[in-house]
Amino acid sequence: MIKPDILSILKNKIQWIQADDAANILVGPITLPVNLDGETVTFQWYSWLKADDEDLRDGDSPEATERLISRLSSLKLADAQQSSVLVYGDFAESPDALIRMHSICHTGDIFGSKRCDCGFQLRTSMKMIAQHGSGALFYLANHEGRGIGLFSKAMAYLLQEAGYDTVEANLELGFADDSRDYKDAISVLKQLRSKPVTLITNNPKKLEALRAAGMNTGKRVPLWGDVSVFNEKYLRTKVSRSGHLEAAGGSDFFEGRVAK
Ligand SMILES: [Zn+2]
Repeated sequence: MIKPDILSILKNKIQWIQADDAANILVGPITLPVNLDGETVTFQWYSWLKADDEDLRDGDSPEATERLISRLSSLKLADAQQSSVLVYGDFAESPDALIRMHSICHTGDIFGSKRCDCGFQLRTSMKMIAQHGSGALFYLANHEGRGIGLFSKAMAYLLQEAGYDTVEANLELGFADDSRDYKDAISVLKQLRSKPVTLITNNPKKLEALRAAGMNTGKRVPLWGDVSVFNEKYLRTKVSRSGHLEAAGGSDFFEGRVAK
């Protein structure tokens, strides 16, 4: 039995977003002050849990919240990471909002690895969203290594050290080039905002894919930088193999920017 005051604390902070065969259970907002280059910026944070189990799928009632809490400790959620979203400003109502769909990168985001530009893109897009005044950064936990998982990414890195590029390495290990799925993130976005958004990405294909998946977006703003000798090949592969639009200045972008 869950205490009534526990249920009342959580009552208005849990929403069930229904889809065909599952529900995404969204919890938040939670106030999250963040240190962005020495300045404290306050985001509103949400996390969501995909529930395909019939017991947890049907929600939006005090009984459903009670069922969820009573199952929580047995779900072993730490073994399967959940995704989350940082929201800034008047996200539901602002006329324009910047969106970043950021794929988790354990090595780049956490360790600051220079083999990719993910850590830079994460921090920069958070700053862009705060400066813009309204937006959301989706942190997608099942997107590690373009959806192949951390362990497989370590193997792919070994192949890359032997000369394979990012795309080839994933293919040689039996994966599709890109196994990422944005369906759940888009359903959460739609729950939080119905007005159009501008996507932060260098990849026009990603904009198209998200639009095809139902995201209300028409515009794109690019995000390049942090080129180094360690990630130059990775970034060039993004341009030549994965449809990323090169930064203004064409291939000159890489010249003179490759920091040692
Ligand atoms: Zn990365």
